[in-house]
Amino acid sequence: MTDKVVVITGGSRGIGRAAALAAAARGYRVVVGYASNKAAADEVVSAIQAKNGKAIAVKCDVASEQDILALFEAADGFGTLGALVNNAGIVGKSGVRVDEMSAERIQQVMAINVTGSILCAREAVKRMSTRHGGKGGVIVNLSSVAARLGAPNTYVDYAASKGAIDSFTVGLGHEVAGEGIRVAGIRPGLIDTEIHAAGGEPDRAHRLAPMVPMQRVGTADEIANAIVWLISDEASYVTSATLDVSGGR
Ligand code: NAP
Repeated sequence: MTDKVVVITGGSRGIGRAAALAAAARGYRVVVGYASNKAAADEVVSAIQAKNGKAIAVKCDVASEQDILALFEAADGFGTLGALVNNAGIVGKSGVRVDEMSAERIQQVMAINVTGSILCAREAVKRMSTRHGGKGGVIVNLSSVAARLGAPNTYVDYAASKGAIDSFTVGLGHEVAGEGIRVAGIRPGLIDTEIHAAGGEPDRAHRLAPMVPMQRVGTADEIANAIVWLISDEASYVTSATLDVSGGR
C-alpha cells in the first residue's frame, strides 16, 4: 500500500477508469484527469470514495499545456506525486488511408497522443526526479500494438503516434534512470472500450477478435492490472521497456 498520488490522464472512461479504480484499491490517491466528460470523471471519484479511497477529478485536455500545468498543480495540492499514467489517447476516424488524411486530423492525434504525453512527463519528472529534489516515481505510457502493426487502411497516423510513444519510453527511461524514475510502456491489443466507437466502428474489437491468438478481446481491467504492477515496487527493475498486453496479437 502507498499513499502517494498517481495522476491518470483520461481517467474518466475505459482503461484510465479501470486504472484509477485499481490504483485506489492499492491505496494511491488518484487524480482523475478528463477532457470533457465531467459526469464520468465524477462517477470514478465517487466509486473510489465509496470504498474509502481518495480521488479528485481535474479537467485536463492534454492538447492544452495550460490544462496540463493546472492538472499537476492540483496534484501538488493532493499529496506527493508517485506516478503518472499517460493514458489519454484518441484515434481518428477508422478506415481512412494516408492519402485521404487532413493535416488537422494528423495534428490532433499527435498533439493529444504524443505532445500531451511528453508534456505530462515533463511535469512529472520536475516533481519526481531526485535531480530536482524529488523522491522518485514511475511513468507509464499507453502505447498500442498498432505501433508494431502499423494499422494500414485503419489509422496509420494513430499507429505512428504510438510508435513515437515507444521511442519516448526508451529515451526518457534512460534519461532519468539515475534519478529514481522508472519509465515503462504498455501495448494493449484489442480492448473493449468506447475508443472504437469514437473511431466510427463500435464493433471493431469484437469483429477482429478471431485474429487474436487468444481468440478474444481484452478488458480494461486486464490493462489496469499491468499498469498497477508497473507502478508498484514489484516492477522495481523494469524501465525503458514496453509490455504487450494483447492476447498474443
Ligand atoms: P476511451 O475509452 O476512448 O477513453 C478515452 C479517455 O481519454 C477518456 O477518459 C477521455 O476523457 C480521455 N481523453 C480523450 N481525449 C482527451 C484529451 N484530449 N485530453 C485528455 N483526455 C482525453 O479510450 P481507451 O480505449 O480507454 O484508451 C486509453 C488508452 O489506451 C489510449 O491511449 C489508447 O490509445 C490506448 N489503447 C487502447 C486500445 C483499445 O483497444 N481500447 C488499444 C491500444 C491502446 P473524456 O471522458 O472526458 O472524454
